[in-house]
Amino acid sequence: MSIFDPVYRQKNIGGQITRTLFHIGQAVKNIFWDKSRLEHLTPAQVKSLLFITYTREDAITIGNLARYLTCTPATASGVIDSLERKNLILRSRDPEDRRRVHISLTAEGVRVVGDIEDIGYEIEEIVREFDPQEQKILEKLLLAISEKLMEKGLIFSGDICTECCFFKRDRHLGELKPHYCENLHILLSEEEICKECPHFKKTLN
Ligand code: SF4
Repeated sequence: MSIFDPVYRQKNIGGQITRTLFHIGQAVKNIFWDKSRLEHLTPAQVKSLLFITYTREDAITIGNLARYLTCTPATASGVIDSLERKNLILRSRDPEDRRRVHISLTAEGVRVVGDIEDIGYEIEEIVREFDPQEQKILEKLLLAISEKLMEKGLIFSGDICTECCFFKRDRHLGELKPHYCENLHILLSEEEICKECPHFKKTLN
């Protein structure tokens, strides 16, 4: 019984779908490699630059990057070191808490992200060929698979506050950071709630 056995697949639609998902995963890997080569980077370096760009500043830590890359903190730290050597990121100490280190993009890092961030458009183009109803069904089914994989610790994915069960909008109306997170107990600005958060938990409908 193997999804790589064509006879098995002929009789098992689950096996057929699983192998197709493997193929799509392979395509995603290839897309990352092609794009990374253009900038003389590795896929892990490209993913790290995208993580730094789209994650809320206080959540850009080695630990969260390690979860995102599904690697050890030591490996994630090595990726950050290599990006620093390439002058794509900058590490700076938080003046209010010297133990905290901020990681941000340099001007060259911003340029590189501008060149690589259309990664995945080949797949999006194919998805757009489906009508909106089909896209909704596809999204629902793929999300269900991805949530199960997250439960098993096989993938990690953050998201933005607006769909999170801990999000309280306009708790402090009129202030610079009007929104509140009931999980992290922090105030959030409009800009911050549009960045990804590794602690995101989907609101159940
Ligand atoms: S846990 Fe949820 S509400 Fe809190 S910062 Fe993260 S995404 Fe936003």
